[in-house]
Amino acid sequence: MQAHEGMYIDGAWRPAAGDDRIDVLNPADGTVAGSVPAGGPEDVDAAVRAARAAFPGWAATPPVERAARLGALRDVLVARQEEIARTVTTELGSPVSFSRAVHAAVPVAVAGSYIDLAAEHPFEERLGTSRVLHEPVGVVGAITPWNYPLHQIVAKVAPALAAGCTVVLKPAENTPLVARLFAEAVHEAGLPAGVVNLVTGLGPVAGQALAEHEGVDLVSFTGSTAVGRRIGALAGGAVKRVALELGGKSANVVLPGADLARAVKAGVANVMANSGQTCSAWTRMLVHAGDYEEAVERAAAATARYAPGDPLDDATRLGPVVSAAQRERVTGYIAEGQREGARLVTGGTEPPEGFEQGSWVRPTVFADVTPEMTLAQEEIFGPVLSILRYEDTEDALRIANGTDYGLSGAVWAGDEGEAVAFARRMETGQVDINGGRFNPLAPFGGYKRSGVGRELGPHGLTEYLQTKSLQF
Ligand code: NAD
Repeated sequence: MQAHEGMYIDGAWRPAAGDDRIDVLNPADGTVAGSVPAGGPEDVDAAVRAARAAFPGWAATPPVERAARLGALRDVLVARQEEIARTVTTELGSPVSFSRAVHAAVPVAVAGSYIDLAAEHPFEERLGTSRVLHEPVGVVGAITPWNYPLHQIVAKVAPALAAGCTVVLKPAENTPLVARLFAEAVHEAGLPAGVVNLVTGLGPVAGQALAEHEGVDLVSFTGSTAVGRRIGALAGGAVKRVALELGGKSANVVLPGADLARAVKAGVANVMANSGQTCSAWTRMLVHAGDYEEAVERAAAATARYAPGDPLDDATRLGPVVSAAQRERVTGYIAEGQREGARLVTGGTEPPEGFEQGSWVRPTVFADVTPEMTLAQEEIFGPVLSILRYEDTEDALRIANGTDYGLSGAVWAGDEGEAVAFARRMETGQVDINGGRFNPLAPFGGYKRSGVGRELGPHGLTEYLQTKSLQF
């Protein structure tokens, strides 16, 4: 176990103002994997001052030079991929093969995408008699969650840097170790002092201080809807820009005529990946009545392949959930599903046999879930799939759109045009058609209560810009 000291502020590791600490637990067995300082308002203030001081210089740095620094940062992330993967596995519990393929590799792709976007973005345009300037917003307060800990950091910091903003990052308390690695990478990449600063700490203390700080121009938050609402209200009160990436309850709609075997297998994989702790997970599978029982059987068979195992073993496909609290939350939803009368096809509230230490949840599938049930309405954030039955396409659309959320989704059909026509009517920010692949340039973000703003690609970059018009 490593006891880390200091926070990365103004280009150096500095001692925290207070003595409070956070223990980082390995959710696979509950052991202490490390500890970091729990920063408070004084640390946040020092970090914001450093970011403010660095802002004019970074904003004035030509975009191609900012792109070159992002390239150096990407290269360090590439060089340290294995260390990143193992660190995420230790603090989050995700299987190391998934950590390599997703937690370490996706941030490299996203950082890489902003090299070109920074260099090529049209920061000025002519509109009639005006010259419109797209200028960086200023100091960004980035508050990130634990479920894709490095991706969510890079998805905020890379576009902010590309735009010319400076950043204070407050990562989730469960996963500060990979955030420290990121700050080391920033240092190695030679970013000027104060351009990126890291304060580890508790949400209601350090997070709140950052969201409230007068020196922060834009708060970008990813996490729960409850905290997002508070941050949105705070930012609104202070007339400050805000971006919120919140929860989801996405629908995976399997239309009649689709390749059922493929759709169900991909749907189960999507929910079980990262132990279901994915905001965009397709947690509601919608199947036509005629295909329903076959889909349930196929889902049970596919789920059996997600046997829990040592997260550091290359062959493991399912790790624990992030914490004991998350285990309680997820098993509470499983119990609620049983109380409300859904059919438990596989899984349940007991930990898997032999995995009583740590925070383990059995991969769980519910059938006969109806749209008004808690299972079909609330984000569970665990390895729990609900399968719903629909009678016709209009019914499927009504169910798909029948939650407060609208982050992601999927449609499967024999005819691609039919799937696209259905997707156009879905109230959601992203839809994968017949298994469409992750695209790091595609705008990501929510309709309805799933959030405000977009991340990734050029849309993610423009979130960090404000416009000025010169008439001449
Ligand atoms: P959370 O919203 O409490 O934490 C996210 C981030 O916000 C963390 O960095 C946390 O320290 C910070 N934070 C917490 N309270 C704060 C406050 N008052 N002011 C400022 N910052 C604050 O999320 P969680 O407790 O880690 O997870 C709870 C649930 O949220 C999960 O079960 C899941 O449903 C959802 N969640 C969604 C996402 C997503 O990607 N959409 C990510 C993580 C969690």
